[in-house]
Amino acid sequence: MADAIRTDFAIIGGGAAGLSAAAYAARAGLDTTVLEAMGPGGQILVIDRIENYPGFGEGITGFELAQKFESQASQFGAKIEYSEVSEIKKDNNLFAITSSTGIYEAKAVLIATGAIHRPLGVPGEKEYAGHGVSYCATCDGPFFRGKKILVVGGGDSAVQEALYLSGLTDKLTIIHRRDRFRAQKKIVDSLLAKPSISVRLSTVLKEIKGDSKHVTSVVLQNTLTGEETEESFDAVFGFVGILPQTALATALGLDLDKSGYIITNQDMATSMPGVYAGGDVRSTPFRQVATACSDGAIAAHKAQEYIEGLEGCSYGEYTKH
Ligand code: NAP
Repeated sequence: MADAIRTDFAIIGGGAAGLSAAAYAARAGLDTTVLEAMGPGGQILVIDRIENYPGFGEGITGFELAQKFESQASQFGAKIEYSEVSEIKKDNNLFAITSSTGIYEAKAVLIATGAIHRPLGVPGEKEYAGHGVSYCATCDGPFFRGKKILVVGGGDSAVQEALYLSGLTDKLTIIHRRDRFRAQKKIVDSLLAKPSISVRLSTVLKEIKGDSKHVTSVVLQNTLTGEETEESFDAVFGFVGILPQTALATALGLDLDKSGYIITNQDMATSMPGVYAGGDVRSTPFRQVATACSDGAIAAHKAQEYIEGLEGCSYGEYTKH
């Protein structure tokens, strides 16, 4: 790889996992490069308020926290490139990473590509995307101040974002397909305590309707009675889960779980030596900013040991002599 840009540790994805790994790896002395296609921060960029990240009990905006992660990683010497990775190939013990800013040659790789929102999968969704259908409350919520908003979903994202949107309108309804929420109890309690939010369980969205420009109504179905009703709404915010971004992992042939997340061991090591995974793209029982950071820290530490092993100077190797 004659013209390749050399780095010890290439991190694909600059969200909480990737930037934490970058800070740990760079601080430990690895030449570390983060390749991030959009902007450092990942999914936390669109979270209005994070209250459960340790040390920030008073809450911090996702944007501010992302900036802190980025500046800490940079401060320790990590290089953060705006770069989209299209391919990773392993040749002997080196990885060739093809990206929009060139080919990088790395000794170890962390895949921290995160996840994107799962579509609602109903008629009208694609047609009205950006015209009343949204997946980002902080980005699009202010356009619907005082309007009728429908939130779909029952997990942490739906409940948390419904709470944020309820600050913009008192005409907010949240529907969930089951008879109870999946989200953490504390935020569900906050949701139920807000009289201005209408909560409808055992209810699904069947269709989104509109005029030539915007969403005007939705068709809802009560799953217990089967009854369908059409109701006027100005906006539909969908938070029905996430889809891991595993195109690179799949092309590399990494093992995935049945839901499509990358399988790792407790070292964040994937099924291919030298490739680590962390954050929302990894198969894990709990997805939080704190757990993504933990994944990143462990991956960086283990990647460093792996690289030292390649160079024949790991502690384990040393004690053999
Ligand atoms: P999630 O936890 O997977 O929840 C998705 C919700 O959408 C579930 O309630 C699910 O219903 C429902 N759903 C799925 N497909 C649906 C469909 N086709 N139609 C209607 N409803 C559907 O996803 P998430 O809320 O986006 O959270 C993703 C991860 O990030 C989770 O691990 C979550 O804990 C974490 N997170 C944490 C925080 C926080 O700690 N503050 C905030 C946001 C996200 P069922 O319940 O029936 O499956």
